[in-house]
Amino acid sequence: MIALVDALRLVEETATVLGPRRELLVRSWGRRLAEPVVADIDSPAWDRAMMDGFAVANADFEAVGEGVVELTVVVDLAAGATSDMAVGAGTAARIMTGAAIPPGADAVVPIERAVDGTASAAAGSRVRLCEPTFRPGQHIARQGTAFAAGEEVLTAGSLLTAAEIGLAAEAGATHVVASPQVRVAILSTGSELVDAGAMPAHGQTRNTNGPMVAAAVSLLGAEPIPLGIAADRPEAIRAAIRQGLAADVLLLSGGVSAGDFDLVPGLLQACGVRQVFHKVQLKPGKPVWFGRLERPGAPPTLVFGLPGNPASTLVCFDLFVRPAIGILSGQPPEAWHLPRREAMLTGSCKGAAGRPVFLPARLVEGDGRLTASPQRWTGSSDLRGLAGASGLIAVPAGASFVAGDTLEVLVRTPPAAG
Ligand code: AMP
Ligand code: MG
Repeated sequence: MIALVDALRLVEETATVLGPRRELLVRSWGRRLAEPVVADIDSPAWDRAMMDGFAVANADFEAVGEGVVELTVVVDLAAGATSDMAVGAGTAARIMTGAAIPPGADAVVPIERAVDGTASAAAGSRVRLCEPTFRPGQHIARQGTAFAAGEEVLTAGSLLTAAEIGLAAEAGATHVVASPQVRVAILSTGSELVDAGAMPAHGQTRNTNGPMVAAAVSLLGAEPIPLGIAADRPEAIRAAIRQGLAADVLLLSGGVSAGDFDLVPGLLQACGVRQVFHKVQLKPGKPVWFGRLERPGAPPTLVFGLPGNPASTLVCFDLFVRPAIGILSGQPPEAWHLPRREAMLTGSCKGAAGRPVFLPARLVEGDGRLTASPQRWTGSSDLRGLAGASGLIAVPAGASFVAGDTLEVLVRTPPAAG
């Protein structure tokens, strides 16, 4: 059994950043580019109409000034349509936003400036346009004005938010080389477990940890790979472990304490995973196991054996797995752990001899201070108290506190305003 600070230090020392990976563009959001994106075409790729109206020659309007210009409509151009029909003196094309400007035209007069806005080549009609503020070249986005073919439109290091993904798509990138999305395999062990969608028979327990841990992984921007449930039989757990060791991180829950069927630590070591620690002075979550598998030609796999009780599982995830995923994905150190803040207690809470306790609390921010209200919580199997708990009160070993005392909390989600 080791101290919590030592366990956290060992996680930080054991996890190392993963190298960049080539990924599908549509799956790369939230990550940082490792290589620039270079455009394969100009944007716009051709002169584009930016208004519904009539494509005209500048000369016809420059001559008339503020008067009415009457033109013959020679072609109708919807977005996506092209035509070789040129526009010249005395003629116009009816054109819609997003269509290519026809040869000879160098401005668009909006449809609202037409005396008869329905005029079209199909109807054989002429159009009368009155555009008192005509500017040569108006309402055309010229080829290459956003970017040119061969130009670096996104530099290495760019954060891929929605705008960057859109720009990369426009520039022709279907894949990008980016900081990796950490792949996290998730295995729930226990012969008593049934799928969370099932009605458990007497003695059976719904697999709560599977969906919960997958959500926690997704919320960190990592990719959950659910491996389902393995019964407490060596061959079942071993086969699932082998599968899970292909991921960057393998998370198991259950089977790590001292019971007759707690097979996980032994099986992991038999599969070549080197134990870094087992059992931490901590409540809930004491039985937690951590190890690392070296893989030739591939980054090591980090393995966490999380205790089976769901509240313990989640507290261990928050304390140990979260920084591991942060380190692997290249996050800066200040983002590895849940933020720690001072808060004033609104009720009393009691620690445990020899180990710190993490108690679910509701955090409220107001009047320039943070308060923490301990939630009703019956212990490590009780998720009810953790649901809605924006914080965890960190009670040092052997300590106890009363309302009005100040102590440290871990902030899980933004505090409520109050
Ligand atoms: P274990 O760590 O395997 O001794 O399990 C401790 C407790 O957690 C037992 O009551 C298990 O039934 C329960 N438990 C283990 N895994 C899960 C799970 N995936 N979902 C819900 N409860 C679980
Ligand atoms: Mg078990």
